[in-house]
Amino acid sequence: MDLGLKGKVALVCAASKGLGYASALCLAREGAKVALCSRTQEAIDAAAERIREETGAEVLPLVADVTKAEDLERIVQETVAHFGTVHILVPNSGGPPAGTFETLDDSKWELALDSTLRSTVHLVRAVLPSMKAQNWGRIIVITSTSARQPIAGLLLSNTIRAGIIGLLKTLSQEFAGYGITVNNVAPGSFATDRITHLLNVRAKDAGITVEEAKSQMESRIPLKRLGHPEELGSMVAFLASENASYITGQTLLVDGGQTIGL
Ligand code: NAP
Repeated sequence: MDLGLKGKVALVCAASKGLGYASALCLAREGAKVALCSRTQEAIDAAAERIREETGAEVLPLVADVTKAEDLERIVQETVAHFGTVHILVPNSGGPPAGTFETLDDSKWELALDSTLRSTVHLVRAVLPSMKAQNWGRIIVITSTSARQPIAGLLLSNTIRAGIIGLLKTLSQEFAGYGITVNNVAPGSFATDRITHLLNVRAKDAGITVEEAKSQMESRIPLKRLGHPEELGSMVAFLASENASYITGQTLLVDGGQTIGL
């Protein structure tokens, strides 16, 4: 299937590894030009080089901390200066800190709000003029199934992701007249460093080994395994495509059947 992404310009955040990287890679495989960011010059340069080598795509590595509004404005400006516009925006971040209500102080709430909700607001505000001018845009946020089915020990994710989905549903209605679709992909459990970190936290709390914590996690997934990051990235590429032009305001669960609910 030709996704119609040749020559389109994508900006993917938090993309030196994990789900952001896989999303950038899948977009590049479909012929998109890709700008990608993370906080570490060396890591983002290496990620860009890997994508270039595999796909031959034009790739622009950028250093930015998504918790800083000025960084986000700058990377949108740099992407537009380099590639001329932004067609596809993929807001993403490191995961919010794990914890229960009594262990999470205001600094952790602020960090989680900055990295997820506020970063999405700042990025959308910065790309909107380009998308409106070309009457075409795709906004695809990486969220979490925690918004649909709260996950024990992830209070911040459970709370803030639901708010982000409310924001995105509203934007899908406000932006529909500009030719911009707004969706989110909600990952279940994928084999990335974020899941390794969460498995370490769970193993410590439960007094079990990390391997045991992983087996417990996999046993609760109907497909009985963690997802491969590219299984999420391919959904991002599809939602960015011409083929997905009538899909907006949706939460697409990519979770191996883990979320129970109609
Ligand atoms: P990951 O493998 O730990 O990768 C995180 C990426 O984000 C890295 O490239 C990191 O690069 C970058 N990053 C972290 N903080 C950043 C910041 N402040 N500014 C810019 N870049 C930053 O994580 P992941 O598993 O791909 O998760 C991505 C998102 O999906 C998270 O929000 C996570 O909560 C969510 N999610 C993941 C899963 C899963 O199963 N993996 C499930 C549900 C939801 P640098 O360190 O170089 O900045």
